Amino acid sequence: MRTVELMTRIAETDVTFSIDDGRWRGKCLICNGWLSFDARTGFGANIEHIYPRSLGGDNDLSNLGLTHPGCNGEKGRNWDPKRRHRGNPERYRAIVEHLRQRRRERWRERA
Ligand SMILES: [Zn+2]
Repeated sequence: MRTVELMTRIAETDVTFSIDDGRWRGKCLICNGWLSFDARTGFGANIEHIYPRSLGGDNDLSNLGLTHPGCNGEKGRNWDPKRRHRGNPERYRAIVEHLRQRRRERWRERA
């Protein structure tokens, strides 16, 4: 599946997202701030793997969210690499659980 198709599916299953004039608008899964991306190209947002692929996380929609590129990059650099979260595994688990919970709260069944 192309990245933008996956992004569309994530937006469709996130109640904060709606489409208007060729752009999806909704809330970043990480910082909860407003976010928008081009519905055709996907430009403007990143796909966040809540439980990262490097730790066995998959492409199931419940494990994916849309984020600002900066928020996604920050989590990827500061928390997801093993050598980073090994020092504070409880904090890391709390972050991942928080994101999973937020994704669940926003869940919307596709029409
Ligand atoms: Zn953000």
